[in-house]
Formats: sequence, C-alpha cells, structure tokens
Amino acid sequence: MKAAVLHQPKTPLVIEDVAIGKPGPHEVLLRTAAVGVCHSDLHFLDGAYPFPMPVVLGHEAAGVVEQVGSEVRTVKPGDHVITCLSAYCGHCEHCLTGHLSLCVEPDTKRREGEEPRLLAKGAPMNQFLNLSAFAEQMLIHEHALVAIRRDMPLDRAALIGCAVTTGMGAVIHTARVSPGETVAVIGCGGIGLATINSAAIAGAGRIIAIDRVPGKLELAKQFGATDVINAADVDAVEAVRELTRGGVHHAFEAIGLKQTAEQAFSMLRRGGTATVIGMIAPGVKIEIKGTDFLAEKRIQGSMMGSNRFPVDMPRLVDFYLSGKLKLDELISRRMPLENINEAFDELRRGELARSVIMFEH
Ligand code: ZN
Ligand code: ZN
Repeated sequence: MKAAVLHQPKTPLVIEDVAIGKPGPHEVLLRTAAVGVCHSDLHFLDGAYPFPMPVVLGHEAAGVVEQVGSEVRTVKPGDHVITCLSAYCGHCEHCLTGHLSLCVEPDTKRREGEEPRLLAKGAPMNQFLNLSAFAEQMLIHEHALVAIRRDMPLDRAALIGCAVTTGMGAVIHTARVSPGETVAVIGCGGIGLATINSAAIAGAGRIIAIDRVPGKLELAKQFGATDVINAADVDAVEAVRELTRGGVHHAFEAIGLKQTAEQAFSMLRRGGTATVIGMIAPGVKIEIKGTDFLAEKRIQGSMMGSNRFPVDMPRLVDFYLSGKLKLDELISRRMPLENINEAFDELRRGELARSVIMFEH
C-alpha cells in the first residue's frame, strides 16, 4: 500500500510502498477513507517530540473495515469506523476506573518477536500512536476504533478522531464546564475551534476566543464565541479580566506554549480552572503565582479530552448530524495523499483551520 513516510525530522514526507500485515486475533484491517492533518503530527515531523524513524505519521482518521481478526466482535467488514490514538487495554486500573485515555499498557501493540504490523522494504517500521494513518490502509487493535452510523460522511468523521474529541472532552470531561459559566479559549486552530463549539454545546455563558489571526477569530464566532480578542493588539489577560469583571471560570490553552499556558492561569477568577490542551515541548517549565492557590485557582492537563472514545465518538456523530457540532466549517482544504507536504506547510503558517487528506479507492 501507499503511505507517506517520514525518514528524518524536518524533511518532507515521501510517498512510498509500505507492507502491511494481516489482522491478528484482536486486530482490524481498515481501508483509510480520510485523515486530518493535526498540529501534533507537525510536532513529530519537526522533531520537537522524538520518535523512531522511519515512521508513517497520522492519527485523525476514519475508514471502512476490510478484515477482522478471529476474536473481534465489535466490528465487521464493511463497517464505517473512526480511529483513536487512545487505544485501551480494558483491564488496567485506569481502564477499570473509567479513565481509558490514560491507559499505557502495551497490550494493544504487537509483542516483541511477533511480525510487526508495518514493514518498509522488508525492515520493521514503528507504528505511530498505534495508528499510522497517512496510509491507504491501517492495521490496528480493535480497542483503537469504534463503529459509527453509515450516514456520517467519513471526511468529517475523521476530525472526530482527534481534534473534536480532544476539544469536546476537555470541556465536558476534564473541566466539566457548567451551563452559564464563562470560558476563554486561547488559540483558534482545529482544537481551539472544537473547544469553543463544545463550550457552546455545554451551555457556557460567555465564550471568549483569543488568537492573533483575524480570520481565525471570525471563524471562532461561527463556532459559538460570544467575544473575540486579538492578542496581537491588546494584552489578552487584561482584556479577559475587563470583559468578565475579574476573570473567567474556565480558561483553555490550545496552542502548547509556556506564555499562553501562564496567561490561561492568569485570566481565571477566584476558584477558576485552567486546562492545558496544547502539547508543551519537553523541558519547558510553567511559572505561576503561588499566592493564586489561596484563591483556589487550579491548573490541569487534558490528554485527548480525557475521552471514553467508544462512547463519546458516536455521540459526537449524533451532534453533527443534528446540526449542533460544526465540522464542515473546520475543514479548510481537502487534498490527495500526494500533496500532504503542502498541508504541513500550511499548518506552519497557521492560517487555515484544517486540511484533510482524502483517499480514492
Ligand atoms: Zn491530533
Ligand atoms: Zn488499560
């Protein structure tokens, strides 16, 4: 099958043939239909986060089941599915207490000594986050996907695979925003926009979108922002405090920078919570005022929206099909796998919301 392979950090992906195995007892072989190009892929491509190479990146996908292993009961060939990097074992403490997205058990990977799922020119290749989605086919554990309604378009379904689950989960599961509470979201890329949309669905009172690109702030309004702040023109913290007379109940950081994580904490009212969604580079430290703890301010991380994706994703599909969840507006461009490097160039420029790679089969 054809896949986009990364051989060295900071080099373009190369489209080449990669061999893919047959499903083991608990595995599923998919025909990839669509895959979103996420900022997290860019972090690995640019070498900010290390990963063994060569590798096929990509982790925001939807597809159609081609073949299932002998023990797989949850999906069958022909089913439409969304994949998730939060593959869960189902029997560790995290899984058994309902925190599937924190599972780190290796049981969803192939064991050492077993034939690898992917081979490049006969040599084993590491699968990226249990998925490796920039490829015509994917061979993944049955706990890394969920079946969805047939009437859901697969290009929009792909976005639920990462950005939307992350944004929605941060609001609903990690921060538990209550109706009427005030929310600020720093960064209006794919995940930031999904966070704004989710805050609107959760019934947040005031939703303040913060970015430096005017076009993204316009988009934020369509996703439910009640107020926008251009951080290139004003001090975002001051502006939020002024708008809310003292600060927000919830601030979400959706970029992954020290400065914006600190701003998220600084714009809270007493008792408020800052939730950091963005991937902050290894080694970076966050500085916050110790006295703010006396005001019961909190700061927390959110990994993939603290998801229970087999339950969450079909619900998100229902939200889209009932008109509550905006996905059409999130897709700025559709392109074939051959043009994938353009999608990364665009991410670096930070102008558009999201590119989706479409596969013709
Ligand atoms: Zn992602
Ligand atoms: Zn587990």
